[in-house]
Amino acid sequence: MAEAGTSSAISSSNSSLSSKRRGVSEGLRSWLKAAGDALVSVIFPAGCRICGELLADSRRVPICPKCLHSFERVPSAVCEICGCPLFGLRQKEEQPRLCPACQNKTYGFDCARSFAIYQGPLVRAILLVKFEQIEPLGAWFAERLAEVVSSERARFAADVVVPVPLHRQRERERGYNQAALISRPLAKRLRLPHKALLLMRTKARPDKRILTLEERWESVRGAFATRPGSQVDNLRVLLIDDVLTTGATLDACARALREAGAKSVFALTVARAIRNPLPSSVEW
Ligand SMILES: [Zn+2]
Ligand SMILES: [Zn+2]
Repeated sequence: MAEAGTSSAISSSNSSLSSKRRGVSEGLRSWLKAAGDALVSVIFPAGCRICGELLADSRRVPICPKCLHSFERVPSAVCEICGCPLFGLRQKEEQPRLCPACQNKTYGFDCARSFAIYQGPLVRAILLVKFEQIEPLGAWFAERLAEVVSSERARFAADVVVPVPLHRQRERERGYNQAALISRPLAKRLRLPHKALLLMRTKARPDKRILTLEERWESVRGAFATRPGSQVDNLRVLLIDDVLTTGATLDACARALREAGAKSVFALTVARAIRNPLPSSVEW
């Protein structure tokens, strides 16, 4: 910048000064916020949002350690594909461990895993993320999913992290997508790009509150598509949602991604419902 004149030199020094000031004021602001949070927790101690127990420190996750530890992790004996716990299912040692649904090649994803069983306190914790947008709790769940990934690192090697999208209208009403409150911090932790717009939900969920199993599968069939113009070819996708109930949603998302050229789709959810058999296999 040999030709830079005095005025531009002054303006550039001004701008570096103002960016320094901005840095200082941002630092000060975050320090004040942290100090404020601590002060608020002393003056107005908050209760755990699950059991009501007073939170001892200025935790950003509004759940006490006891409740966080009460979430029942998915046991280690699971179906190799869908990750459902295999309670007492007898299988020959040399065969891959597959549940009846996966023996029938039910799902469009390569594999699915979850952190814990969808029951008790975990149901309430998921609702806090879903309806109250408690981001620190989303980040806490992301840490747990990162642990799941690191326990099977080779299986979960991925190029991008993608949240299961809400229908545009639903996201507008809610103001956010709860799956992205988990997938964004997870992508950051795994140092992978976060692609919240790669998938879109083109068909809204029916208004009816309770859907039968058949209706659940029917309501998501063809409900997702990749956004036109997005690069999906050969991508290994880590697909994130809060709960796996029937697997129908993750299945529909995975099929849309595979159709657009994705190489593989690995699904991760915080919770997994275990009392939800498939419509075709009600006997197990
Ligand atoms: Zn508690
Ligand atoms: Zn399975």
